[in-house]
Amino acid sequence: LFITFEGTEGSGKTTQVALLAQSLREWGRRVRVVREPGGTPIGEEIRHTLKHSHQNHAMAWETELLLMNASRAQLVREVIRPALAAGEIVLCDRFADSTIAYQGYGRGLDLEMVRRVIEVAVGDTWPDLTLLLRVPPEVSAERLRARQATLPFVRDRMEEADAAFFERVARGYEAIAAADPKRVRVIDASGSVEEVRAAIWREVAPLVAL
Ligand code: ATP
Ligand code: C5P
Ligand code: MG
Repeated sequence: LFITFEGTEGSGKTTQVALLAQSLREWGRRVRVVREPGGTPIGEEIRHTLKHSHQNHAMAWETELLLMNASRAQLVREVIRPALAAGEIVLCDRFADSTIAYQGYGRGLDLEMVRRVIEVAVGDTWPDLTLLLRVPPEVSAERLRARQATLPFVRDRMEEADAAFFERVARGYEAIAAADPKRVRVIDASGSVEEVRAAIWREVAPLVAL
């Protein structure tokens, strides 16, 4: 079982991935948690280049697309496929839909080209279920402010975009959910951590009861 978490910054993905992993382990299931970009030694190096390379403010969007998918290609082969083959449940904090939303809708790259690159990276390793955490932009901004206050400030190239960029990303996610409602379940993530956790469990429990 392969489950991915998607949504804009501050929608609560990382928080909920950890909680779902905990619930599934309590049910006696073996769980592998990974994140994107990253999740392997090679992928974490690529993540660092994407996020913190200060000289690359002029990184071409095509370079960004290929680096994201280089990280993903490694993760799929080194971690996700072996874990699924061993019967583990894989939870991924962002996956291919992030590339469609950010590099496609956000950066404005041609969606067909983006999909072809993704296909090179993932082949037929596609999630069984994608949880799209939906929050209004004000809520997301407020959560990010709260998180900033608790973490040392680290300059992050990926977070430099403007409000219009994040609006396009959010619209991209809505289009993804509308196009594939069977795989992509929209979760209202504006409530408390426990409310969101319960909504996610309602989607996941029927799949793990088997
Ligand atoms: P990013 O895309 O930037 O990685 P994320 O989607 O992983 O963000 P989190 O890091 O899980 O989001 O959450 C962002 C902040 O909001 C954190 O400080 C977290 O503790 C807090 N938070 C998460 N879920 C909720 C919630 N339901 N209500 C209030 N605060 C929340
Ligand atoms: O905080 P997180 O680990 O989710 O950070 C990933 C960062 O990379 C986010 O700031 C997001 O904007 C960006 N990203 C992106 N394109 C992707 C995946 C993530 O721009 N395909
Ligand atoms: Mg996160």
